[in-house]
Amino acid sequence: MTFSADQLSARRDAAVAAVAAQGLIADEDPVLGLLDEQTIRETVGMLHDAFDGVPAIPCVAAKAATLVPLLSYLSTLGIGCEVASPGELAMAKAAGFAPDAIVYDSPAKTVPEIRTALADGVAVNADNFEELARFDAVIAEELGGTPRGRVGMRINAQIGTGSIAAMSTATRTSKFGVGLKDEGARERIISAFVDRPWLNQLHVHNGSQGVPLELNAAGIAEIVDLAVEINERIGHQQITHIDVGGGLPTNFDSDEITPTYADYRAAVEAATPRLFSGEFTVITEFGRSMLAKSGTIVSRVEYVKETGERRIAIAHAGAQVATRTVFMPSSWPLRVGVYDGKGLPRTSEEIAHDVAGPCCFAGDLVAVDRPLPRIEAGDLVAVKDTGAYYLSTPFAYNALPRPAVYSFTVGESGEVEFSCIREAQTVEEVVAEAGSGTFLTSGL
Ligand SMILES: *Cc1c(COP(=O)(O)O)cnc(C)c1O
Repeated sequence: MTFSADQLSARRDAAVAAVAAQGLIADEDPVLGLLDEQTIRETVGMLHDAFDGVPAIPCVAAKAATLVPLLSYLSTLGIGCEVASPGELAMAKAAGFAPDAIVYDSPAKTVPEIRTALADGVAVNADNFEELARFDAVIAEELGGTPRGRVGMRINAQIGTGSIAAMSTATRTSKFGVGLKDEGARERIISAFVDRPWLNQLHVHNGSQGVPLELNAAGIAEIVDLAVEINERIGHQQITHIDVGGGLPTNFDSDEITPTYADYRAAVEAATPRLFSGEFTVITEFGRSMLAKSGTIVSRVEYVKETGERRIAIAHAGAQVATRTVFMPSSWPLRVGVYDGKGLPRTSEEIAHDVAGPCCFAGDLVAVDRPLPRIEAGDLVAVKDTGAYYLSTPFAYNALPRPAVYSFTVGESGEVEFSCIREAQTVEEVVAEAGSGTFLTSGL
């Protein structure tokens, strides 16, 4: 599968022009999300290529893609689904994933969640020994001693921190999984597998954005060594599946995809060739790297003002759609493209701008002191690389509605077709979500 950054960029420009020409941005809908179907297909194709010849279940992390039509599209592309809550599990089922293509990870599973997941036959990874005891009870009492799907254990390889602390899951004190290097933990993990013939999967997710490839690979190698040791102790191959998590970093500086899934394969294979020997089925759970490049948030610029010698474009893409970027701008910078009202790229000399959102707090800025072509009121701004997490995880600040999301294709002669995969939320729906019931006492 090939990918071209220039073509991605040209498709995005064509889509923004078509958004303007087709009137998708309007007074009622001043901001919307776009997903480029071809970029999704190409990225998924590169993932399949990277695991060519290896038994694998490449999953998408549902939290990066909580839009049922998007999950459904990924399912048709041969992707499975990693879920971490009852809502995500229900979405994965609604999207049509087969139970054995679903992996359930969550650090806080309640007994009913465990019961549903084990009875549905989805693969479930226990986060800790206390949770595993809950699995034991459900399996013994309700499932006749045999779970319907695979059951795994999440291990924290405790290999260290990446550049974003909140994204680093493999620290010594991370809340996730059983710490492999804690005193006595290795033996306790091995015994857990010896005692439970149905425990057949190991899971590790060493972190997300900011965790270097080599660190991730080192953590995966620890888990492969553990799987080999457990199987040797038991005397047969009880562990058949190794779930290596996600966390391939995404480049937010350009339209290039770096590192690639091929780079990932090379780094992990260098650290642990045995993972690719064919003896294990490899499960992956990529989120950001699978979808970031395919998405763009487009917003109309409502006003432009100059104050304190700064040019400020006030648009509609703020914290409600770009939450992480607004609250942690240095960890999550996003590129902003500027188009005129007809959707043609502006090319004038760059001057410093702030690009602000609609939320009522001063820090609601997607770009600060950013050199950009001169922005005018009525222009369109495009916030790039927002296909993972951003579109799917809105923030309800100021009762701002969830914007519409469209997938799009660009035909041979440049014609753009849109499909609405999530309607914009209406004000009536916002009100309906804002609670019901009455206070006990009267106000008078
Ligand atoms: C968030 C998460 C992922 C996806 O991480 P990305 O960095 O988006 O690839 C995968 N597995 C688990 C367990 C996660 O929590």
